[in-house]
Amino acid sequence: MTRAETLPHRSHALSVAAVADHFGVDLAVGLTQKEVARRLDRFGPNKLAARRPVTEIDLILRQFASSIVALLMAALVLSLIYAEWKQAAAIAAVLVINAAIGYYTERQAVRSMEALRQMAARNARVRRDGQPRQISADQLVPGDVVVIDAGDVVPADMRCASSAALSVDESALTGESLPVDKGVEANSEFAALTERSAMLFKGTHVVRGSGEAIVTGTGIATEIGRIAELVEEAESGDSPLERQLALLSRQLIWLTLALAAVVAAAGIYSGRPIFLMAETSIALAVAAIPEGLPIVATLALARGMMRMAGRNALVENLAAVETLGSTTLILTDKTGTITENRMEVERVITPSGEFSIDHLRAVILKGGHLVDPATDPALMRALLVGVLCSNAEYDHHADFGTGDPMEVALLRAGGFAGLRRREQIDTYPEVAKHPFDTATKRMATVHRHGEGHFAAVKGAPEEVLASADRIGVEATSLDDTARAAWLVRAERLAADGLRVLAVAIHPTAEPQEPVAHSLTFLGLVAFRDPPRHDIADAVAAMRGAGIRVVMATGDHPSTALSIARAVGMTDPDATVTTGAELSRLGEAAETECKKIARRDVFARMTPEQKLNLIALFQREGEVVAMIGDGVNDAPALTKANIGIAMGRRGTDVAREAADMVLLDDEFSTIVHAVREGRIIFDNIRRFSTYLLCCNLAEVLVVGLAVFAGLPLPLTPLQILFLNLVTDVFPAFALATGEGEGDVLARRPRPPKEPMLSAEQWRAVVSFGLTIAASTLIALVVANGWLELGAQQVTTISFLTIALAQLWQVFNMRSRGSGLWRNAVMKNRLVWYALALCLGLILAAVTVPVSAEALQIVPVGLAGWALALGCSLLPLLGGQAWLVVGAASGRPRMSARAARPGASGKEAL
Ligand code: ATP
Repeated sequence: MTRAETLPHRSHALSVAAVADHFGVDLAVGLTQKEVARRLDRFGPNKLAARRPVTEIDLILRQFASSIVALLMAALVLSLIYAEWKQAAAIAAVLVINAAIGYYTERQAVRSMEALRQMAARNARVRRDGQPRQISADQLVPGDVVVIDAGDVVPADMRCASSAALSVDESALTGESLPVDKGVEANSEFAALTERSAMLFKGTHVVRGSGEAIVTGTGIATEIGRIAELVEEAESGDSPLERQLALLSRQLIWLTLALAAVVAAAGIYSGRPIFLMAETSIALAVAAIPEGLPIVATLALARGMMRMAGRNALVENLAAVETLGSTTLILTDKTGTITENRMEVERVITPSGEFSIDHLRAVILKGGHLVDPATDPALMRALLVGVLCSNAEYDHHADFGTGDPMEVALLRAGGFAGLRRREQIDTYPEVAKHPFDTATKRMATVHRHGEGHFAAVKGAPEEVLASADRIGVEATSLDDTARAAWLVRAERLAADGLRVLAVAIHPTAEPQEPVAHSLTFLGLVAFRDPPRHDIADAVAAMRGAGIRVVMATGDHPSTALSIARAVGMTDPDATVTTGAELSRLGEAAETECKKIARRDVFARMTPEQKLNLIALFQREGEVVAMIGDGVNDAPALTKANIGIAMGRRGTDVAREAADMVLLDDEFSTIVHAVREGRIIFDNIRRFSTYLLCCNLAEVLVVGLAVFAGLPLPLTPLQILFLNLVTDVFPAFALATGEGEGDVLARRPRPPKEPMLSAEQWRAVVSFGLTIAASTLIALVVANGWLELGAQQVTTISFLTIALAQLWQVFNMRSRGSGLWRNAVMKNRLVWYALALCLGLILAAVTVPVSAEALQIVPVGLAGWALALGCSLLPLLGGQAWLVVGAASGRPRMSARAARPGASGKEAL
């Protein structure tokens, strides 16, 4: 094995046998588990060096690269110049606390994202110890025999050992966008990377065909491994929402700086000390800049994504979380999403009769009686085609198969008649394969038989029957009447919810020519693929959430309709639209398009037609989430507003194109994801509104007091304290709330609605004003009525605004939610945050050092009563506003989406 490390670069120039020999592997058996362990030990896992993780040092340094730090530094320098040592120490402490909070928040977000990335691992199909196995792709070792299929991402560098029309998109490696055909013929030793048709390279996509290959290099010993550092993904990771918030922050910074300058000028003009005004305006700027917004938003998104991952929905990009909240339509395929994709052959109909399969007893019945399949040549031949025309593998002892579940089911059924694929392939060696094509809806394999060849064909009944002119073992002629009768039979089976396939042979096929006509039809095979147990509930939940669920399947219209009805996706009298009808629609009249866009079931759809359907829905204003699994679904997954792929069943290509992966392949997971998506969005709205109204209140209090010639209501350090204590912890708590139980009871958010809509801005301004007004009332009363000293007045206004901001958190409940039962009250973190903040305020007031730094003095019982009383005013006003607003709010649910008892609640 010492040569193995140098071999990867020459494998393309050697024959398959030489490569197999070099790696000490028998293609039919694969490596032994013991040998795999040895090689894994030696070559390490098949992983590229992960992208450089964000280190702790990076995180710490990042905290000091912000404008808030620059402003605080300026304040620090000012304090030092004026020899205000205590103040300087306090600002230094503020700097450290600010960095610590930023560090903690960002660390959580970064680590969550890293954990999520790790979950997106891939699988590979291998042959080891003579058996098919499904393993994690990072467990591959040089010498492994890998089975590869359309839709896979090539898991390692490999020498092609067999190819059935294998075609690979190597653009990830070479930049060449046209797919390259792959075969077993060795290439010249000097062939460039792009000319190595005998090699498959890690990270490239199989777009067509299937084959087997021997792993020649893993991990960094691959072509892509060598350039891994160059291709490190350049994704920014910022979602539109984060960008919106960052922009908002930047705009507010300028606004605030201008305002601070005006306040400073007005203060100096009215005779206040320059130093105090300079410091106040800096503090004001620090106070008003919602620096925390983008990072708390990222934290909220990352936490939400972790929660989604906990529910098996892996969101691959942050933007998807927002889109989920406004999704109005889910376009789903059928097989494996609505149904179990655990197929069993239930019936086989041949010209010799109708057979059923008893899976418990592993026997075949005819008319309810046991039959010996060997005595029925028509049945045997139909089953033989199912066994030969296959990419799957099946271990009859372990009852375990890998590959397309429908093909596995055929191999299993063949076993009941004593037909095992290995033995049959020995008898009829496969010489060519025409892979399944979604356009022709059939697949064929060509086999040697004596001197000649025959093709085994399987596919959609109408396609196979249309190409057949003979029938049965005797190959008698098949006329139109008989063809129509067989189509009716297929229709009958489909109407029963069965998936139907026709099997045929071409008795004199040429290996390389397409098998498209002169077929001999052998019969129909019907599969039972039951609907998933939870699908009906999930569809109902989606409808309740104002989201339509539409089926677009490649399967037969009757099968599609029967399953759609069974799970409550459509009305009993609904019609089904086929892909062909959709194509004929072309540029049809708008009314016709509108009519089609209201349908719920689309059948015999090709991936291109799915793409057109998405465009049609989008034109009608729908925000479309599309579920797809095939390699050809990738364009539609990208075209949809949010692409969803299945983690287990989906092809790697579909997973890469998708924005979200359902790790457990369960449709109901989408319900959880939509719910989480809405909660995350609500949370972001909540804490943004909260932070902004607190900041606005501080700016207003200081600004108005300065202009009105009142005593300064807050000292610079008090403002910093408010911003670091009273705002931040409740905001964090709001960011991680778990939402109200009925977020699914309202309609999706209009897609164009900005993150902070007019309603949120109204809340920011009115809450900001009420908090500022209450604080000023306290200030005026303390100043004019109680005739307290200047420091006592400041202390009272500080306490008023600090407490008012704490109580403000309760105004962040949804409009229309219960006074006591709502997302804020339920959120335990809110209570912890309040307790912590109250403790910190009390400590600030009572501990001499901090009291002195913050210039807080005792205010007596009357002072406390005044502060407490005034601080409650915004809470009372806010609650009244919420109650009145809810009573007069327009209904938010359409009749269609409304569920009994639903009460369209929204964040604010
Ligand atoms: P869905 O789109 O819901 O996943 P589907 O799997 O039936 O449904 P396609 O994969 O496009 O959709 O298949 C369309 C039709 O082609 C099937 O109904 C079946 O008749 C036929 N077919 C599917 N897979 C194969 C195969 N491996 N070999 C031959 N024919 C196939």
